[in-house]
Amino acid sequence: MSWMKALAEAYHTACERFPNEDLMLVSDIDGTIIDMQYLVKSVLQSFDQAHATTLFTRLALSDVDVHENNVEQLLERQHIPVADRAAVMQWYLDRRWQEEVILNAHRPFPGVLPMIRWFQLQPNTTVGLLTGRPESLRKATLRSLNSLGEAHGVSFDDDVLLMNAREWEQDVESAKVAGLKQFREMGYHVFAVIDNEPRMLEALAPEAAKQELLLLHADTVYESPISSVPSGVVEGRDYALVELVPGQESLPKKVQLVWHGVNDPANLRHFLASGVLWAEIDVRHDPSGELICRHDSFVTTPALPNEEWLIYHEAIAELAESGVGIKLDIKGGVDALNGVLESVASLQLPDDRLWFNGELEQIGEEEFRKIRTAHPAAIVQCPVGWLNPLIQAVPGEARRILDMLSDWGVSRFSVNWEHPNARAIFKKLAAWGYEVNFYGILDLEGFLEAVVLLPCSVTSDFNFPRWNYYGRGAGMNGERIVYVNEPDSLKAGEA
Ligand SMILES: [Mg+2]
Repeated sequence: MSWMKALAEAYHTACERFPNEDLMLVSDIDGTIIDMQYLVKSVLQSFDQAHATTLFTRLALSDVDVHENNVEQLLERQHIPVADRAAVMQWYLDRRWQEEVILNAHRPFPGVLPMIRWFQLQPNTTVGLLTGRPESLRKATLRSLNSLGEAHGVSFDDDVLLMNAREWEQDVESAKVAGLKQFREMGYHVFAVIDNEPRMLEALAPEAAKQELLLLHADTVYESPISSVPSGVVEGRDYALVELVPGQESLPKKVQLVWHGVNDPANLRHFLASGVLWAEIDVRHDPSGELICRHDSFVTTPALPNEEWLIYHEAIAELAESGVGIKLDIKGGVDALNGVLESVASLQLPDDRLWFNGELEQIGEEEFRKIRTAHPAAIVQCPVGWLNPLIQAVPGEARRILDMLSDWGVSRFSVNWEHPNARAIFKKLAAWGYEVNFYGILDLEGFLEAVVLLPCSVTSDFNFPRWNYYGRGAGMNGERIVYVNEPDSLKAGEA
């Protein structure tokens, strides 16, 4: 069993057996949350900067394959001249725990902060930190972790950070055992502890056996011999929400979920069988002038000989009949919009089942105002990735533009999950009080990471066979997702 699956099960069991208790996941910091390889690389490269040398210019993260306490070995392996080694080591040891380094050279392992966010979202559940770092680093530790956590919605309180009351490296094992006891005295039921150092897990093993507490070994870089990992400890390296979140029923209810690109008959069948509440269709005219559902324009992607698309009027009638919400992505400009507005009026669809989306190049001020006038309570959305440079550099100007769009009737702004600044854009927009949708999510892990940020909505292909969803995608660039073991009843081509 994977370690994240074991963690999910330990949590589930604790929820069932201790429904009225405050549950806690306890995590170590260095080598468990924080990737120390990055710190080592960064401090060594700062030596070069300060001394005008080029010893570590080409040092890659993957070259740093030693524990942070064994950097001499790395210098040897990297063939750093013997004459330089003492000065480098002195530099490294002097700096590695300086506040500035903690604040600037610490990076989390991928997936660990979304994992912590997931637990912090659960009712009566806390993530406690138990570290060998000394008390003198309390402020810097909290500042650094909370600044790293910010983009993930993660924050840690002072009272759940337990540190070593002694000096560096002094009797860390007893500090960990005492810390576990202290969390219990604070009223928490600890259901699991994650640590990368085998000897810490060994020290915690007797307590763990008494308390039915799961020990997890973060199999990253560690100092003590792996042979000291006690039996019963589950090892792992990759943090993944897919292992932790059992299914759609466990997701926060307030995030609206949208099935992206319901443009062909097979995807429509998959969507209707899914229980997902919103379908997004792309609306444009085909070359004969008929309104259809298709993502790509016929200019960039000519029709394939066997390509299937939905006829818009049939699709909207079927969606209207099924009772779901309909997100209309107006790809075809003003003409497509007019056809759509007529059809939703004649079907008498209520505003709470309607959602309009359009790029500003396609749908301008006049069109947005027209949608808003016809549907005062519908969701009206436009993507705003293009605004990122202003959001970051000239936020006042960005807000002025967003307010202008709001005045036109836009009520929600859509952010591409694949945008390198997606989380930062979301954070700003949410802090300014705007509604945000994420789109462009590639897989289930990305979907879960987006959902736990609690945007208003997430639009996704639902290409999640693990959850029995076989979404085919919108047909972008003429491509659709195909599955090897798709259920026969829903396969393409079967009516
Ligand atoms: Mg550690």
